[in-house]
Formats: sequence, structure tokens, C-alpha cells
Amino acid sequence: RAKAEQLGGYRFFEQTMSDELNDRRQIEHDLRHAADRGELYMVYQPQAAVASSAIVGFEALVRWRRPGHGQMSPAIFIPLAEECGAILPIGEWVLRAVCKEAAGWPNPLSVAVNVSPVQLHTPNFVALVHTVLLETGLSPRRLEIEITETALVRDFARTLATLRQLKALGVRIAMDDFGTGYSSLSNLRAFPFDKIKIDRSFVSAVDTNQQAAAIVRSVLGLGRGLGLPVMAEGVETQAELLFLQSEACDGAQGYFLGRPGPIDQFAHLTRANLHAPAPDVETPP
Ligand code: C2E
Ligand code: MG
Ligand code: MG
Ligand code: MG
Repeated sequence: RAKAEQLGGYRFFEQTMSDELNDRRQIEHDLRHAADRGELYMVYQPQAAVASSAIVGFEALVRWRRPGHGQMSPAIFIPLAEECGAILPIGEWVLRAVCKEAAGWPNPLSVAVNVSPVQLHTPNFVALVHTVLLETGLSPRRLEIEITETALVRDFARTLATLRQLKALGVRIAMDDFGTGYSSLSNLRAFPFDKIKIDRSFVSAVDTNQQAAAIVRSVLGLGRGLGLPVMAEGVETQAELLFLQSEACDGAQGYFLGRPGPIDQFAHLTRANLHAPAPDVETPP
């Protein structure tokens, strides 16, 4: 009996594993076709200058409408897409969609797009960015590419060459999620970043948590020393924003300033027209 149960338990376990494997294969298959099938769309989150609270740009964030399934966070499907190679068609679709969209915005507004390490390391990445800029007419100065530290761990020389070529196009490069990866400090010195984005884990409760405040202050000092503007991610309260203001942080992004949403939601900013009065700006949640 004990043996039968053991066997049953084992078979049950095996079944679950193979279900999960099948699910995963199905997701990966669907991811490979998500761009072609028109299942991807972008949402945009405002980025503000801390001193004036003015919106200076947007971060573009991808969403996947998978038929028959609910929303899946990009924090889940992007890593799967990276593992199975689907990130390449997805990343290319994202870059085109975002540049096309941003090309229609009033001039000073910039757009930040997340680029996966896998995509960054493909040999034709710089050529793709160049082509898309030409196709869409977006000024390279208004495009910012966000990369995380994981993009920097492999093949130092090639990564450096790629980032320099992007800079030569006029594109800006931001280090995303700063403080969560490793060898952060040497990366900042070795690679030509234009901006540091402090990870939201340090920003949350920065007004009440002394450790978080100390870390944010030191990153701001680092930015000042290196001549790099610093943007805080994940600003959820006015108190956090006031702290950042008092510490002279350059930029802020987070639910308090605006949740990511379809670009139409920000039409009063992106279709700014000097002759028409802007509608009331939505009050932050
Ligand atoms: P990320 O680039 O660090 O993007 C910021 C994430 O924080 C977004 O999650 C955003 O919705 C969320 N966020 C913004 N403000 C707040 C806040 O005040 N509080 C909290 N709790 N969260 C906030 P999202 O859209 O789920 O994206 C997750 C991650 O997926 C991104 O992190 C990025 O690494 C990746 N990702 C998203 N879109 C793309 C894309 O188009 N391409 C690539 N390669 N990766 C993407
Ligand atoms: Mg980002
Ligand atoms: Mg981030
Ligand atoms: Mg992140």
C-alpha cells in the first residue's frame, strides 16, 4: 500500500511537471507569434523633472494580450521570451511601435524603451535602431534606451562597442534598476551611461526608512560626482517625492506621478497645441 501511494505520488508529481512543461512550451510558442498576431501593445508612464514636476518624457512598457488568457506581467513573459529567443521579434516590434508613436509628440518629450540584454547583444541591434530612427523620423536625442546591469556582465568589449555605437547615433542610455545588480560602481565608470535610474525598492518608503534614505542619498551623490542625472523609480507618495525634491534628485517616475496607461490618456501632453488650452491634468492617485 505504502508503495502504491508512493508510486501514485510520484506519478502525480511527474504529471504536474509535464503539464508545466507543456504550458511553458505553449507560452513560448505563443510568444514567438505575439508580435505578428497583433497581440502586443504599449503603455506609457510619465517621467517628471523633480524640481518643476513637469512631465519630460515617458517610459514605454510592453503588454501582451494573449487570447484565452488573462494579462501576464512582462516581468514574467520577458524572461521567458529571452530564454526562447522570442525576445527578438518582440523587441523589434516594441522599438518600431515606440519610435513611431514618439515621433508624433511635441519636440522636447523623450521616450525610454527597455532593451533586453539578449537583444542588445544581437549583432544587428545598432543597425536596427538606426533603421527605425530613419523610418520613423524620431530624433535620436529623444530616444533613451534602458538597460539593466545583467546586460553588462558578458563580453565587456563588445558591449562597450555597442553602447558607443548607440551613443554615436545620438541615442541616450540609462542604467535601469540601479543597485539591484552587481558590480554597479565599475559599470558606471566603464560604460557611457547618460542617466541612473534608482530601483524602486530603494525609493519606496524613502521618507520613513533611514537605510533607504541613506542609499538614495548616496546614489544621488554618485550621480553628482559622475555628472549623471538620477531618476527615482516607483515614487508612490507625495512624501517620497518631497524627499527627492529636498535631495535635489533630477527625475521621478511612479504611480504618484502617473500609472502606465495607453498613450491616449496623456493626449493633453503628447498632442500639446499652443492654440488650444490643455485639459485639466489628472490628479495622481
Ligand atoms: P522596469 O523597466 O524597471 O519598469 C518599471 C516597472 O515598474 C513597470 O512594471 C512599471 O509599471 C512599474 N512601476 C512604475 N511605477 C511604479 C510604482 O510607483 N510602484 C510600483 N509598485 N511599480 C511601479 P511592468 O510594466 O510590469 O514591467 C516590468 C519589467 O518588465 C520592466 O521593469 C522591464 O524590465 C520589463 N519590460 C517592460 N516592458 C518591456 C519592453 O518593452 N521590453 C523589455 N525588454 N522589457 C520590458
Ligand atoms: Mg525600465
Ligand atoms: Mg526599472
Ligand atoms: Mg525592472
